[in-house]
Amino acid sequence: MAGDEKMIASWPLPTTNDHDAPFWQGARRGVVVMEACGSCGKLRFPPRPMCPSCHSRQQQWRELSGRGRIWSFIVPHPPLFPVFNPLAPYNVIVVELEEEPAIRLVGNLVSEPAGPINGVSAETIRIGEPVQAVFVPVTDDVTLIRWIRRR
Ligand SMILES: [Zn+2]
Repeated sequence: MAGDEKMIASWPLPTTNDHDAPFWQGARRGVVVMEACGSCGKLRFPPRPMCPSCHSRQQQWRELSGRGRIWSFIVPHPPLFPVFNPLAPYNVIVVELEEEPAIRLVGNLVSEPAGPINGVSAETIRIGEPVQAVFVPVTDDVTLIRWIRRR
C-alpha cells in the first residue's frame, strides 16, 4: 500500500517558478492558496501576471477552503508516464473549487491523506462528489495536493 511513497524519487514532479511559488508554499503549509486579482478580486489559475477579466496587473494571494466537487475523472490507460505502471489502475480526478467552480485542479482521490493513488476504485467515484484537499509532502520543495471524500 505504501509502495507509491518509495517510487516518488523517480516521479516527474512539478517545478516551481516566481509566479506560482505562493501556491506551492501554501501546499507546504497545508492550505490551497490561489492567486486573485488585486483590482476586481477574481481568482485565477494558473498564476499569471495579468487579470484575464479586467487586465489589472495587481495581484494578491488568498487562502481557500480546500473544498471542491469532482467535476470529472479518468483511469489512464496506459498510465501517463511509465513510472506509474506499477500503481495502475489508479484514478485521476478533476476538482472544481468551491470558491470558483471555473477553476479546476487535477489530482488523485485517496482514501486517507497518506493513502496510495490506487486506493480508491474508479467504479465508486461519482461526478459531483464533495471532496477536501489533503497535502502530501514528497520532497523538501514539493507538497502535492490530493483529495479525500467529504461527508
Ligand atoms: Zn481583475
